[in-house]
Amino acid sequence: MVDYISLLKQNNLKATIQRTNILKSINRTGHITIDEIYEELKIDYPTLSLATIYKNILLMVQHGVIVEIPISGEKSKYEIKKDEHIHLICKSCGNIEDRELSSCNIDIEDFNIIFKQINLYGLCRNCQSK
Ligand SMILES: [Zn+2]
Ligand SMILES: [Zn+2]
Repeated sequence: MVDYISLLKQNNLKATIQRTNILKSINRTGHITIDEIYEELKIDYPTLSLATIYKNILLMVQHGVIVEIPISGEKSKYEIKKDEHIHLICKSCGNIEDRELSSCNIDIEDFNIIFKQINLYGLCRNCQSK
């Protein structure tokens, strides 16, 4: 179990119920869109608005608690910040799989890399066999 309260505090954010619930929701699926978080949380918190979730997501991205995964032609997904890894994104079902980055070491001499995100698009194992 991830300790969301410490995770938020380490990143200088107050641990509110809304934020810990959003993080729980992200952690359950691994990678999730804001709409999916909203659909899930509004069952237990019918007064929670999409705008509130959006605002908290942005703030947690700015504070490095979560990371946005922009997906070409689709809504971004979000994940809890982990060690650097590669995303295998299925163009058919939208599934995102994490893989280790170790095989893919990027070193560019004249560019100071602050943040790496590598997204590879294709067909997952399930969709290949359809
Ligand atoms: Zn797929
Ligand atoms: Zn990931």
